[in-house]
Parts: sequence; structure tokens; C-alpha cells
Amino acid sequence: MSGPFHALDAEHVLLRDRARNLAELCLPHAERADESDSVDSDVLQLLKESGLAAVQVPAAYGGHFENPDSLAVTVVREQLAASSSHLDSLFAMQGIGSYAISVGGSDEIKEHWLPRVAAMDAIAALALTEPDVGSDLKALTTTIAADGDEVVVTGTKSFITNGGDASYYCVLGKEEGDGVGYSLVLVPADTPGVTTSRPYQIMAPHVLGDIEFDGVRVPVSHRLGAPTKGFGLVLATLATFRVSVAGAAIGTAQAALDDALAHTTGRDLFGTSLARLGPVPQLLAMSWTEIEMARSFAYQVARAAAADPLGSLHLSSMAKIGATEIAGRVVDRSVQVMGRFGLVRGSRIERLYRAARPMRVYEGATEVLLDGLSKQLIKGHGR
Ligand SMILES: Cc1cc2nc3c(=O)[nH]c(=O)nc-3n(C[C@H](O)[C@H](O)[C@H](O)COP(=O)(O)OP(=O)(O)OC[C@H]3O[C@@H](n4cnc5c(N)ncnc54)[C@H](O)[C@@H]3O)c2cc1C
Repeated sequence: MSGPFHALDAEHVLLRDRARNLAELCLPHAERADESDSVDSDVLQLLKESGLAAVQVPAAYGGHFENPDSLAVTVVREQLAASSSHLDSLFAMQGIGSYAISVGGSDEIKEHWLPRVAAMDAIAALALTEPDVGSDLKALTTTIAADGDEVVVTGTKSFITNGGDASYYCVLGKEEGDGVGYSLVLVPADTPGVTTSRPYQIMAPHVLGDIEFDGVRVPVSHRLGAPTKGFGLVLATLATFRVSVAGAAIGTAQAALDDALAHTTGRDLFGTSLARLGPVPQLLAMSWTEIEMARSFAYQVARAAAADPLGSLHLSSMAKIGATEIAGRVVDRSVQVMGRFGLVRGSRIERLYRAARPMRVYEGATEVLLDGLSKQLIKGHGR
């Protein structure tokens, strides 16, 4: 159920419906794929056949819109996350892991990689986090150094989505230039000196790998953006895609509410429907209220992000915080009203419960985003 506030134009309605169709096709594979720590070939094939990854890439390189479109990505993720967190992640990374190429890649790199990303013939990855560095990204220790016609990358990246299955890694490292800055370089996964491992499995399994770059050499054409200007590309990536996490959170919450509704309306106890018993109707209505609020806001912000990504980054942060925190509350309430049936391992509600949790940590933990927003708020008051 969704109200008139969410009105999408015809093109986005079409994309939403294609995503819904893909989500349904993936459902039979979801339980297996969502417990996998490597890319599921069935889900990958279905995503490829859907052609939806094209919304992540500029039209000039095989994409759908002139530029990757924040609203399309948000609307598509909402549908995909309701079916499978694995499917959602695979789709999401094609944008997050390729935007720096779209914005800062050489012609050669764009022409080689972007059509492959759009067609799902290449799997994208963005490697920022390190074993000892997460939110405090400027403390990273990976180094990037120019050496004639080549660039040398040395260091270890950790918790990288698609790690081990990606076709390339966009790697952020420290580089000496006019002072020390942070550069971004594309390293094809099969470059000598790149090794991957999978030391972590998280509560909602995810394709995650650690990548070691042991003096890895790539041609200078593999730089993304100018030397020491890599952070700008990372920021541009977040400004375009952060709001789409809200889409995934809303899809997760909606699926949890749907399960709670189906269960409580179908079960009678104490002589009445569970959906009408005690606080259960209020819990269901509160979940509906929060989901509608989150969806309305996320779509508005996604439109703003499509028009002016950096100018609306604070709104994207708010949309991400709001929707992911709401998803946490909705999945928890849904499990509660389903009683023991909400706890069954492998059930959709149990998978949704686990899938909602990492969203409040990755791509800017709630508290990190609140910290940034509070600084902006206080500065706006002249302090
Ligand atoms: C499923 C998943 C996928 C991921 N995929 C990728 C990927 O593809 N590429 C990649 O580079 N990384 C990826 N990551 C890593 C992710 O970006 C980091 O987990 C995130 O940046 C947080 O860093 P951290 O986990 O080291 O937490 P820390 O930095 O140790 O922070 C821990 C907690 O401290 C609090 N905190 C930290 N800093 C502040 C602050 N300034 N103000 C207030 N509170 C603060 C927050 O509550 C935060 O949750 C992924 C993580 C997950 C869980």
C-alpha cells in the first residue's frame, strides 16, 4: 500500500515494476543467496537479464539515464531488498563501485568498464575500509605512489562488499603530492599482487572480503580523478547513493509489516483476531505510519539528490538515518507480534530482522551522520 505522496513519473513507475518483477523471480533463490558469502550465480543471472543495473551508469556508456539516477536506484532497491538482501547488495554496488569511474575515469577506463558494469558482465567494488580504519577514513594507511607510467598500491582493505568476486576494486589510498592527500585508483582483480580472503561472516551474510594489495602496479590511466583528489569522488559517490540505502530499508520494513499483517490477521486467539488484540493493532499502525513517512521523505530527497547531489547530502543523511532506524523498529515489532513464528530460522521475517541491522552501520553509521548533521546545524547558527 502506498499513498499519493509517493507519485512517481511514468519512467520511474516502469523501473519500479521491472524491479518488482525481478524481486519475485529471485524469491525462490533468496533463502540460499541471503546465507551465502559469495555471489549467487542464479541471482546474478536474473539481475543481468533484468537490465536494471543500467540505471547505475551514464547513457553514454550503456546506461539508462544521462547520469546515474538517485531516485531510480532508491526505488529499485526498495523492491529488491524486500525479496533478497543479496540481490539488493549486488545491484547497489554496481553504482557505488562505478560512480568514481563515471565521474573521474579516463576515457579508456570508462569505455572498458562502464558498459560491462551496466550489463552485469563486471562486478564492481569500492575499497575504503581497512582492518583498523572505518568511520575515521582519513586515518587510512594504504599508500598510492606514482612510479613513471605506473601507480603502485600497497595496503589492506577490509569488509569490502563483493570482495573476492569483484572484477575490480576502486581503492582509496594516501599519496604524497602537494602535501599528503588521498587518491583513488582502479585495480583490476586479476592484477598480480592482489590477494583476497574472507575472514568475516556477519549476522546477515553478505559477500565480504579482505583484499591485500602487495605493491600492486597499474598503468597511470587507472587513476580515478587527479592525484590527491580521491576524497572528492568518494563524497560524490555518497551524495548520489546514500539515499538509496533508505530505499532498501523501506523495502525491508514493508516486507516485515506485510508478514506481520498476514500472520496476525490469519491467527485467532482469546476469541478474536490477533491483529485486533491488545496493542497489536497499534503496533501495526505505527509501523505503517513510519514506513509511509520514510518513503515519502526518501523519494523527495532522492529527487533532490538526482538534481544536486552535494547540495542535498545532509538530506540524504537524514533519509538514511530515518529509514534505517525505522526499519530496525518495524522488523522488531513485526517479530514481536508474530510470537514464536517470528523467530523461526530461515523464515523471511527472521532474515529481514537480521538484514535490517547492518544498514545502521554501513555507508555512514547513524551516529557518524548525526555528528556531521549536528556540526552543520550549529554552524548554521553562527557557532
Ligand atoms: C555489510 C557491510 C558492507 C560493507 N561494505 C563495504 C564496502 O564495500 N567498502 C568499504 O570500504 N567498506 C565497507 N563496509 C565497512 C563500513 O563502511 C564500516 O563498517 C563503516 O564505515 C563503519 O566503520 P567501523 O565498522 O570500523 O566502525 P567504527 O568506525 O569503529 O565506529 C564504531 C561506532 O562508533 C560510533 N562512531 C564512530 N565515529 C563516530 C563519530 N565521529 N561520531 C559519533 N559516533 C561515532 C558509531 O556508533 C559507529 O557505529 C561494510 C560494512 C558492512 C557492515
